[in-house]
Amino acid sequence: MIFKNATIITMNPRREIIMQGAVAISGKHIVAVGKTRDVLAEFPGKKQIDCNGNVLLPGLIDTHVHTAQAMIRGCADDLGLIDWLFKRVWVLQGSYSYEDGRASAALCMLEMIKSGTTAFLECMLAERYGFDGVAETVLQSGMKAAIGKIVMDTPSYAESEMKMYPGMVEDGETSIRNTLAAYDKWEGAGDGRLQVWFGPRTPGGVTPSLYDEISALARERNMGITIHNSEVKEDLSYARSQGCRSAVDFIGQHGLLGPRTVLAHVVWTDAEDWRVMAETGTHVTHNPASNAKTATGIAPVQGMLASGVNVALGCDGGPSNNTYDLIRDMRLVSYLANLKAEDPTVVPAESVLEMATINGAKALGWEKQTGSLEVGKHADMILINMDAPHLTPAPDPVSTIVYAAHGTDVDTVVIDGQVVMQGRKVLTIDEGAILEEARRRYPEVAARGGLKIGPRWPVL
Ligand SMILES: [Zn+2]
Repeated sequence: MIFKNATIITMNPRREIIMQGAVAISGKHIVAVGKTRDVLAEFPGKKQIDCNGNVLLPGLIDTHVHTAQAMIRGCADDLGLIDWLFKRVWVLQGSYSYEDGRASAALCMLEMIKSGTTAFLECMLAERYGFDGVAETVLQSGMKAAIGKIVMDTPSYAESEMKMYPGMVEDGETSIRNTLAAYDKWEGAGDGRLQVWFGPRTPGGVTPSLYDEISALARERNMGITIHNSEVKEDLSYARSQGCRSAVDFIGQHGLLGPRTVLAHVVWTDAEDWRVMAETGTHVTHNPASNAKTATGIAPVQGMLASGVNVALGCDGGPSNNTYDLIRDMRLVSYLANLKAEDPTVVPAESVLEMATINGAKALGWEKQTGSLEVGKHADMILINMDAPHLTPAPDPVSTIVYAAHGTDVDTVVIDGQVVMQGRKVLTIDEGAILEEARRRYPEVAARGGLKIGPRWPVL
């Protein structure tokens, strides 16, 4: 199959952009990338898809996703972080059944596909959402995912006196055992589309000895680990109360830094933390919309990039963003970094697109198979339809997409050579049924949690 006549943003090591370009795919692999006339001459008589007026680029990679939060989107707006978490998010999530977890994950994946995301890192899948249902949904959707299974043994958060909603509490032994069982069952499933990771809670939610155990078990199996780190100022004061210089230092002392670790948020850090992360190959997922909405701070992206840290991008969750549209969030990376530095040149559009593609692939350990359009890599790619007023003209397709595009501009999505969406119609999962199920299940979850959430203005 040949996708021809597109403007191709390859994200290859030379970052080449090909006008009137074509990509040929065979099975799940890319077999040619070049000028349309050259690719057609090399592969005559093959099925062709005309992409005139579209930009073809690698599928986006969302490195921080709470799939269970899609169905509680908009349920914790305009609240301080403690009320947000203790009175709404944990109450609702703690009222989920396995079927709710599966339905929310399907809703989340549908939204990601429809906005051009082809792979994601689920950071904290709790026991009660049902690992198997979520894994099955990933395989059915056609997406690629690393699923971080929650590990915890302490029902508190940093130095807060408040306790988690009972439905969210798990014990250390069970959460470790079930993570390893999920790893044995699902690692590598879907012809390598699925990875199983550890998704431990932040310092304060896990005892130091359990962190040591996670670190040893992950190293034995080369499993990934993803942890929220330095998201709020309290993470820093908690680490200092434990005798560490920072929250990054705290987890480093428990063996949790390294090339298979992705730290989420990473706001309250300094140059010494960036140096340690770069030296250990620890990855960062930057979550600009979530940090802005919950007012937890502007992450020092400019400093981390300059120190050589691999920084990727993530949407976070339904109550904290409130969407899983990575294209919508890309512009925020630059905007927030510019505001912080009072300088509009510090994190340019090119860096942002790297974070959303090739840097995300590195964070997931998948840089040999995805994140750029190159011969030998998997065909994970999206078409953005530029025939729209907000994308016209587009003198530089990179900055136009980063600063002006919406997720709804994505026309076609291909993952592992499979056309997952075409003409905005998702072909792998049933859009109508997923929306209908989420609408039906959400009020039942809220009722179980004793919450009734509606407009704050008078309703007639
Ligand atoms: Zn998160």
